[in-house]
Amino acid sequence: MKQNVVIIGGGIAGMEAAKQLLMLGYKPIIVEKSDHLGGHVSNWHRLFPDMTPAVALIERMKGEISDANVFLETEVSSINKLKDGYSIVLSNGVSIVSRAVLIASGFKLFNAAKKEEYGYGIYDQVITNQDLEHWFNTGEDKRMTGKDIKSIGFVHCVGSRDLKAGNSQCSKVCCVTAIKQAIEIKERFPTAEIYCFYMDLRLFGKKYEDFYINAQKQYDVHFIRGRVSEVSENIDGKVVVKAEDTLSGKPLRVTLDLLVLMSGMVCNPDIDQVASMINVGVDTDGFLRSRDNVYSIMESDCPGVFLAGACTGTKTVPETVAEARAAVLSIHNYLSNG
Ligand SMILES: Cc1cc2nc3c(=O)[nH]c(=O)nc-3n(C[C@H](O)[C@H](O)[C@H](O)COP(=O)(O)OP(=O)(O)OC[C@H]3O[C@@H](n4cnc5c(N)ncnc54)[C@H](O)[C@@H]3O)c2cc1C
Ligand code: SF4
Repeated sequence: MKQNVVIIGGGIAGMEAAKQLLMLGYKPIIVEKSDHLGGHVSNWHRLFPDMTPAVALIERMKGEISDANVFLETEVSSINKLKDGYSIVLSNGVSIVSRAVLIASGFKLFNAAKKEEYGYGIYDQVITNQDLEHWFNTGEDKRMTGKDIKSIGFVHCVGSRDLKAGNSQCSKVCCVTAIKQAIEIKERFPTAEIYCFYMDLRLFGKKYEDFYINAQKQYDVHFIRGRVSEVSENIDGKVVVKAEDTLSGKPLRVTLDLLVLMSGMVCNPDIDQVASMINVGVDTDGFLRSRDNVYSIMESDCPGVFLAGACTGTKTVPETVAEARAAVLSIHNYLSNG
């Protein structure tokens, strides 16, 4: 009989793991709390650095796991250690015994309203990176639909690298996401002036530097090194941003039609209760703790419990997919040697 493997979270980490487990002859069971598969990526429009449509990736992945058991709008109610494995009861009443469990519960987006000084939730023309992706996908957002947008700003590091916001870590994906979004905006509004306000640019991935150079040369995006000090609204309903250009040493004041806050990826506390039932630890950054961060990032301290994707830290799509595959190999080794 095929062995069960319970996967908590049906984002791309959970879906990729399910696909690999199916290929190895296991019975993956995805437990997903929302009403759809795909996690955050199902909210994105196009993916850096190749501008791949996110919906195409999600649809392809869904097709590849049509034989997996999927419980949507379901969570783990209880999980108990057995002599060899886990007894798991789901919120829909289903009970499962599984020798291995994969946690793939992902991340949360920093709540931009917590940074009051940027005016999210106060000024209509201040939106987040997630709102912008939603508008790219659906065209539904009265703040943008039907408007001729002539000037836009992007504020980097919102809720990241910010001790006051309770998160000193770099979110890793938002510099390159701002570039991706700036290019998409410029394709829709070719004459718009675009400003990216950054502390320093962290563009570590394959082709990211090319993406940045292209944004300047082909799309004329202006990169301004300096923290935004004040955001307000003028009488015409436009956003007024004050910043200091730390490269020229001059104060700067720009009036914009739209200001986009690059909210960072932060830990997802929704999984903490389940993690604590089986003694999977939480790290100092709030993400789940791996056995170590060099060699065994997809293994927890708890026997038979594995981790994949953004539940252990900020990750891109290719990193998440690679980690899901590595986690499945570890699960296979664990189950084969038991
Ligand atoms: C604005 C933005 C744009 C991005 N654009 C790109 C891009 O263009 N290219 C790129 O490479 N990367 C991009 N990323 C990064 C990408 O979103 C992540 O790499 C990816 O979402 C990680 O997938 P995941 O499955 O680990 O987590 P998630 O996408 O967070 O999925 C986790 C899933 O687990 C579920 N879940 C959570 N808790 C529980 C629970 N307790 N029980 C059951 N289910 C649960 C959630 O509902 C969700 O479906 C972007 C990130 C941001 C913030
Ligand atoms: S990736 Fe860029 S915008 Fe995001 S936290 Fe790091 S430095 Fe800031």
